[in-house]
Amino acid sequence: MAKFLLLLALAIVVYLIVSRARRQGEQPREERRPAPPPSIPEDMVRCAMCGVHLPRSEGFASRGRFYCSDEHLRLSGQRERKDE
Ligand SMILES: [Zn+2]
Repeated sequence: MAKFLLLLALAIVVYLIVSRARRQGEQPREERRPAPPPSIPEDMVRCAMCGVHLPRSEGFASRGRFYCSDEHLRLSGQRERKDE
């Protein structure tokens, strides 16, 4: 058992030495640079009619909702009128 503990202590010491050497080896230059933005360059919106996702600039907005096409914008307007 004592042998095992000695081995464990040795392993910890070796680990500490290696990790310290590695930290000194690589000089942290601009390590805190902000990560590049995720692959989505633009806000994605969801068509309120069919649920498809599309960039905000390609969507059609109406009364706080977005639609993938002019047709869906029109259809939703008709449907809402029918519901009322
Ligand atoms: Zn749609």
